[in-house]
Amino acid sequence: MKKTYYCPHCHNILHYREKNVIIASPFVKCPRCKNEVVDTACKEWFSLNIFFKIWGILFMMLKAIMGSMLVAGFIVVAFPSADESVMAIGMFISLIGILAYQIYSLTKAIKKSKERAKSKIYLDKLIKYDFYVPKRIYRKAE
Ligand SMILES: [Zn+2]
Repeated sequence: MKKTYYCPHCHNILHYREKNVIIASPFVKCPRCKNEVVDTACKEWFSLNIFFKIWGILFMMLKAIMGSMLVAGFIVVAFPSADESVMAIGMFISLIGILAYQIYSLTKAIKKSKERAKSKIYLDKLIKYDFYVPKRIYRKAE
């Protein structure tokens, strides 16, 4: 599911976002009017509750399984004579590949989120816009 996201200042199309949460800073700059826009689809990792974190990881695994099934489907169509072991190996390799890529991107996003959490000014701004900032994160910031 994708949703069009417009700039509230100039109604320029900012992006088409998926319904699930994106781990990023919610403060983005509109390329047309240069105003700062609060994108509520973007959340900092520390703002998410444990339910969202687990759900996000499960969803990631589900996407990897679906991706590897697509690869298996492709093998069946492209190589009709391939036996089951070829299909199984193809599925396994793509599953590992997709998962590895997803884990890599998630770790990178979490690391960037933790970097931003170090600034008290930034955290104050998040709180001002009603984003949840855990007390332990706020205490550690400078
Ligand atoms: Zn704009």
